[in-house]
Amino acid sequence: PAPSSSSSSDLAASLPDLPALREQYAALQALGLALDLTRGKPSAEQLDLAEPMLALPGEGAHTDASGVDVRNYGGLDGLTGLRQIFGELLDVPVAQLLALGNASLTLMHDAIAYAHLWGVPGSPRPWGREETVKFICPVPGYDRHFSVCEAFGVEMVTVPMTPDGPDAEAVAALVADDPAVKGLWVVPTYANPDGAVVSEAVARRLVSMPTAAPDFRIFWDNAYALHHLTANETKTANVIDLAAQAGNPDRPLMFASTSKVSFAGAGVAFLAGSPANIAWYKRHLAVQSIGPDKINQLRHLLFFGSAEGVRAHMRKHREILAPKFAAVDRVLTERLGDTGVATWTQPQGGYFISLDVVPGTAARVVELAKGAGIALTPAGATFPYGRDPRDANIRLAPSMPPLAEVEQAMDAVATCVLLAAAEAQAA
Ligand code: PMP
Repeated sequence: PAPSSSSSSDLAASLPDLPALREQYAALQALGLALDLTRGKPSAEQLDLAEPMLALPGEGAHTDASGVDVRNYGGLDGLTGLRQIFGELLDVPVAQLLALGNASLTLMHDAIAYAHLWGVPGSPRPWGREETVKFICPVPGYDRHFSVCEAFGVEMVTVPMTPDGPDAEAVAALVADDPAVKGLWVVPTYANPDGAVVSEAVARRLVSMPTAAPDFRIFWDNAYALHHLTANETKTANVIDLAAQAGNPDRPLMFASTSKVSFAGAGVAFLAGSPANIAWYKRHLAVQSIGPDKINQLRHLLFFGSAEGVRAHMRKHREILAPKFAAVDRVLTERLGDTGVATWTQPQGGYFISLDVVPGTAARVVELAKGAGIALTPAGATFPYGRDPRDANIRLAPSMPPLAEVEQAMDAVATCVLLAAAEAQAA
């Protein structure tokens, strides 16, 4: 996911002049577009791939291979067969993997809630009784991670993302002396929004670095583990094995879900971790729940059948998504490639493209786009508290609209980027 093209040094040379851009923008407004690139939702065409699931498990099909009657209470760990499939895909032992409810964000939220109320294995006291709790947030990052921190009053400290994941040396420096730093968010594969993939070296550093907090946790949010956009099906660094090897088995908590595999909001979410972490989570979950929706889990088990079934299904998603990502890159390259006003990522997977515009103009670009009928993720959303100190980053989510609309929207965004840059230059 290396940033493409251009350094933004010599703007004047290649920018069209302001009046010409204002005219282009007025013409754009006259088209009366209504396009939405705000959130990484699967398109209807992608959802159709899993349509047969709606008929599963089907009347009369209510037991799994081991004879569990999915219509009844129980089975806090989730169905074994489904855990076997996702244990293989996520590279974790079945005993250390729970198949739970419909969304991994709930599990991340609840892990932080449990930590605040009761502490995690190794905590001297519940996090809620600490003076201050801090989390390290690589930026740009995922806004809902930041919202969870904000809700619990967790102070967010940023570090830059690199093409190999969070800047590990910056993270190591922050955790070394400050026991208030209890956590780190990581999206290890095809990060939201910049598509970065954590290298094995960075993963090793994160699980082995000394931490002042004895109960430091890495929230390893593997939301896009299986969401490849190319034939190169990148394997995520095995954080749980690496942490155990480093003598810090309890450091990582891994999250994943089928939200963008089967149905968003009606999938299955997974939690993986050390035996101690899994026992800890289950102890608290057992008070809250008698067990997950095993009927939905059986539906997934029957539809996918095996790890290979999931991989084959993801290749169909890729066929739909890859042309949209290619279109974004093509239009941005055509319109902005030589201008020096923008750089953007070329992700090999996931759901997003991270666009950096002339510092100080991201909010203006989003405003201009809105004025032309194109909804973009609010500028700043990829930073804690919604504040991008450089006002430069915009997250593009091309999955949802049909291909022709993605092209049209990106052409419009390019006009807005150019106009905002020319305005800034003129000011
Ligand atoms: N993590 C990341 C990094 C995401 O981008 C998303 C979805 N946009 C989620 C988690 C949400 O996953 P779920 O639907 O399982 O809550």
